[in-house]
Amino acid sequence: MNTERIAKLVHQLLVELGENPDREGLAKTPHRVAKSMEFLTSGYRQDLPTIINEAVFQSEANNMIIARDIEVYSMCEHHMLPFFGRCHIGYISRDKVIGLSKLARIVDFHARRLQIQERLTADIAKDIAEAIDAKGVGVVMEAKHLCMMMRGVEKQNSLMTTSSVLGSFRSDLATRSEFQDLIRRQAH
Ligand code: ZN
Repeated sequence: MNTERIAKLVHQLLVELGENPDREGLAKTPHRVAKSMEFLTSGYRQDLPTIINEAVFQSEANNMIIARDIEVYSMCEHHMLPFFGRCHIGYISRDKVIGLSKLARIVDFHARRLQIQERLTADIAKDIAEAIDAKGVGVVMEAKHLCMMMRGVEKQNSLMTTSSVLGSFRSDLATRSEFQDLIRRQAH
């Protein structure tokens, strides 16, 4: 990524919007925006094996493991505006488990790029399933979209919920209900 080139584009964008990019308050804005965009899209320039690293452990545990209320911040690919909320992850392992902090890193890996919530949810589920060869994975995400809140329909409280279920979470109704119960019961 070329920070200077992005800063120039932002400078040009400010001109097109009718701003004066040289006034004091905006003088450093193109550079700040470029650095910020670099971070918010850093998922494109990371790779998953490096993120997961060694944090996959052997375990006999075959009960359901739940991580809930993981914060999600992403940007919609239609308007490049933020959407944000939280996600809940559940999985049943075959013989491997993954560190909790790595689940959050997998979420960020996919969230820090231009996304739609449906794909973000599905990609997280798929990567967790593959990383630990899980019997089943479920991901539920609730998010608010600024493109809906600040513009267009201006629905201030529109919360969108998406889910992705794989393996036994898809094929076994009892497993899916247990997952839904666990994330609902623990939600405050
Ligand atoms: Zn949007």
